[in-house]
Amino acid sequence: SLVLVTGATGFIGAHIVDSLLSRGLKVRGTTRSVQKGEQMRSARPQYASQLEFVQIGDIATIGTFDNIMDGVDAVIHTASPVTYDVQDNEKEIITPSINGVKSILQACNLSGSKVRRLVLTSSFAAVVDVTKNNTFGPDFTYTASHWNPLTWEESVDPATSAVVAYRGGKKFGELEAWDFVAREKTFDLVTFCPPMVFGPVVHPLSDPSQLNDSNTNLWKIAQGADPLPSARVPGYVHVENLADAHVEALLRPEAGGKRYLAADSEPFTYEMAADIIKEEFPWAREIVTKDYDSGKEPVAKYHIDGARLTTELGVKYTPFREAVVDLVQQMYELSKAN
Ligand code: NDP
Repeated sequence: SLVLVTGATGFIGAHIVDSLLSRGLKVRGTTRSVQKGEQMRSARPQYASQLEFVQIGDIATIGTFDNIMDGVDAVIHTASPVTYDVQDNEKEIITPSINGVKSILQACNLSGSKVRRLVLTSSFAAVVDVTKNNTFGPDFTYTASHWNPLTWEESVDPATSAVVAYRGGKKFGELEAWDFVAREKTFDLVTFCPPMVFGPVVHPLSDPSQLNDSNTNLWKIAQGADPLPSARVPGYVHVENLADAHVEALLRPEAGGKRYLAADSEPFTYEMAADIIKEEFPWAREIVTKDYDSGKEPVAKYHIDGARLTTELGVKYTPFREAVVDLVQQMYELSKAN
């Protein structure tokens, strides 16, 4: 079988590629960068005959995937902007998020399409109601039936922050997908809503400054960030667990039509990350800040129910410590090599 993976040279996408390849599946990855695609392939010589890349344009343009669907049996769509450093929230965050989903839905639905399942990387950003951060205590548990209450108007308001725009882009993107499959019934859908995703990188990276957004927080701590970054959510998932879950969801018929929160039952904090880094890396002991409390917002205390990843998809959660240690060690070596 041939699986199309969008965002295949991104942090999560590249782990999904590896999980698919290790199970003997063929992969067609999309990227805007021919060079990154070639780097991914040359780093995996043992999979030369199983892995190919196609160049696409900006996913903000509807139709980007229409001419790359030949022979594709299933799709995992991860491509979406994960950046808050933008001039125009709607143009750079919301439109590509939603149009990327619309484009992949349209491509899967082309006449002659063999696609029977689409797996979509949504986000806990589509789930969380941040207005309740101080109301929902340890007794409150988010499940896959929750959606953030943002309206379209609030999401595209130019006065809003890029973080709010991201929450709107992910919510309205995921809703497009559920509405489409309910209407067309030509293929089914599985979505994942992870909070923070951490862990080692397997995509091309020449310098820690190019690190994806979530992992950047961990590396900043190892670099002495003071104050520590503020956690927007108390949950995390190891990137390898999330990648395996996407692949299991593709392969298990009974996963069709389901939405999964993907989060370890243990909460994380950046204070924990700072402790782990100091415990594990002698070189970091003098660098990591000792002032853990300077002006930080308290982290919300609710729970996120990610148990179905284990009970339904057979994925066991990897401890936070491992994600931190593997990523920091890798970035330490990369920064020394440069
Ligand atoms: P990365 O930034 O590492 O990867 C994002 C990928 O999307 C890149 O490969 C990039 O392709 C592609 N992409 C982004 N914008 C565009 C665009 N305008 N046009 C075409 N391609 C684009 O992010 P992650 O791997 O962390 O995120 C992947 C998915 O997971 C996203 O959907 C994100 O919302 C979701 N997610 C991530 C979380 C996290 O903590 N990391 C948490 C929750 C959800 P190219 O290689 O061409 O640049």
